[in-house]
Amino acid sequence: MSKINVVIWNEFRHERNEEGCRAVYPEGIHGCIRNFLKVNEDLEITLAALDDPCQGLPDELLEKTDVLIWWGHMAHGEVSDELVEKIRQRVYAGKTGLIVLHSGHHSKVFKQVVGTTGNLSWGRDQKEVVWNLMPSHPIAAGIPEHFTLDLEELYCEPFYIPQPDALVFGSWYEDGFIFRSGVCFLRGLGKVFYFQPGHEFDRSFYNPYVQRIIKNAVYWVKPADVGYTVPEGAPNVTFKVTDEFN
Ligand code: ZN
Repeated sequence: MSKINVVIWNEFRHERNEEGCRAVYPEGIHGCIRNFLKVNEDLEITLAALDDPCQGLPDELLEKTDVLIWWGHMAHGEVSDELVEKIRQRVYAGKTGLIVLHSGHHSKVFKQVVGTTGNLSWGRDQKEVVWNLMPSHPIAAGIPEHFTLDLEELYCEPFYIPQPDALVFGSWYEDGFIFRSGVCFLRGLGKVFYFQPGHEFDRSFYNPYVQRIIKNAVYWVKPADVGYTVPEGAPNVTFKVTDEFN
């Protein structure tokens, strides 16, 4: 059986510049994600970072990427529009599945692929309870009705996304806010999953349920076996935003 090629793309700036983040993720957030994914022997994992050549995704790598996991925060604007468009084309063609984590909600990749500003509200780190709203969904496999993250950054509604194709997880925070924290989008022949936990100073990527969800998502977003030749190209729907976040 051929392996699933997973690329874990991390901006990888916080870990190099901030001791507090490096203390939590000494191998980088992408290294931490690799460590729990690699036990699955059918996954071929590659790490990529913004400051790598070709921003971590040269054509040779992108063209064999079945699943792209994306974590970014402080340098969204540095990611080249050309690269974002290549990724969008692959997602729409059903060649690459996309998983966007935490602050990736404001990445160009998320905004362009999903078609959203990605805007949301946020606040102090606090206790988060993640509720399983769709237990029969493949991404919710093995996840209890709810689980708690002792410390995670508050992300809250309104979250300016289009109506998701599936709302798998919803979160409650101790200050009383709620958030659609695990959402699926179908775009063209491709699949996208956005998941909220993963602030760079918190330990959510060590939580076994967070790990299980990301692992489940890899298998859910991976390209489907489409029984006909897919036309090249994606619709030209480049999303323009003009608010203060961009
Ligand atoms: Zn954060």
